Amino acid sequence: MNATELTELKQRFPLVAELIALRETRWLNPKSSSLAVGLPYVGLTAEDVKDAHARLARFAPYLEKAFPETAPTHGIIESELIPIPAMQRRLEQEYGQPIAGTLLLKKDSHLPISGSIKARGGIYEVLAHAEKLAIEAGLLSVSDDYSRLLLPEAQRFFSQYSIAVGSTGNLGMSIGIISARLGFRVTVHMSADAREWKKAKLRSHGVEVIEYTEDYGVAVEQGRIAAGRDPSCFFIDDENSRNLFLGYAVAGERLKAQFSDQGRVVDADHPLYVYLPCGVGGGPGGVAFGLKLAFGDHVHCFFAEPTHSPCMLLGVYTGLHDGISVQKLGIDNITAADGLAVGRASGFVGRAMEHLLDGFYTLDDQTLYDMLGWLAQEEHLFLEPSALAGMAGPQRTGALLAPEKICQATHLVWATGGGMVPEAEMAQYLAKGR
Ligand SMILES: *Cc1c(COP(=O)(O)O)cnc(C)c1O
Repeated sequence: MNATELTELKQRFPLVAELIALRETRWLNPKSSSLAVGLPYVGLTAEDVKDAHARLARFAPYLEKAFPETAPTHGIIESELIPIPAMQRRLEQEYGQPIAGTLLLKKDSHLPISGSIKARGGIYEVLAHAEKLAIEAGLLSVSDDYSRLLLPEAQRFFSQYSIAVGSTGNLGMSIGIISARLGFRVTVHMSADAREWKKAKLRSHGVEVIEYTEDYGVAVEQGRIAAGRDPSCFFIDDENSRNLFLGYAVAGERLKAQFSDQGRVVDADHPLYVYLPCGVGGGPGGVAFGLKLAFGDHVHCFFAEPTHSPCMLLGVYTGLHDGISVQKLGIDNITAADGLAVGRASGFVGRAMEHLLDGFYTLDDQTLYDMLGWLAQEEHLFLEPSALAGMAGPQRTGALLAPEKICQATHLVWATGGGMVPEAEMAQYLAKGR
């Protein structure tokens, strides 16, 4: 982008200057519409999500045996929904601003197998691929007990195939662990942001890890090229995959069941506000899609990004989607929120979801570290920096709530990762909070 183009862009889109200045900012989406209006843009339906639910149910007997940590939920990979009242008081004190309503946390940070939101989409996509291969080869039928995929003959079958993915860390962890367990050969292309312990853990599972000194976009591109040279290789495309998106979307109905079990009401008088950390967009996009299908117009979704990586805000706000990167504006895409260190948003998710999202905001790394420390002190919950991005949501968007409904609102912070961070690494995070 040359200087004239940049000046023009700033004139048409005043918020671009805020993004370039790396200021924490908020943007309410004027295209936000009802579910009826927004749904056709997604190109996927409730039927597709139902199909994903059914596929995960078929795999549950396999997962329960292959990953004993999923036994308590009988092979269903799901996280807890909990209130965090002490954190709510702490946020009110620190920011000198009340949070009307109830503050809840969705603990995807503690999902089994890989300890992040990627245990939804990433694992789902590998399972869908494995199922397709095995059925086509006559090794499996949908009425079988899928735990037969643990048999040596199934493992031998999958070992003829390989899987590749580019990642900032957590997607690679999810895909690497499940692929290796099924018997696939798997290669993870890791961006420079990826934490050392994630790479070490993957290697201990027999995953090939290729490291890059560049960012996520480059790791994905190199992964795509390498996979293209090998006809037996399936490349998991985090920037465009519908299957990843559907794996995340399953969260909507599951959350609705948890609300109902806890006696929590969501309706016109009891709106639900959900704050989702956003990297390339598949995770929060898929979850938001599922939430919209489950709760309709009573749920309001906001995406949160680091000030150094506001790719989705930039893409949706300017309408340029994946046609622009933050680097084009001179923003460096360097952040402690490694799970969100993405410079160019998914073109699919932005276009699919732009009519169903209420807004976007950015936060700087220090804010993430501060909230990480407060949550540890108040609730004894330990998350990675990326996973705190949603925590600023209630106060960032508070003024938007209809005054008569404000006390009955539920604010749900989607905690996206951190459950497997080693203690020494966590101590370093905690030391950075104020
Ligand atoms: C990947 C990730 C996200 C965001 O998901 P995207 O699909 O990249 O938008 C959020 N938090 C954590 C911890 C992640 O690993």
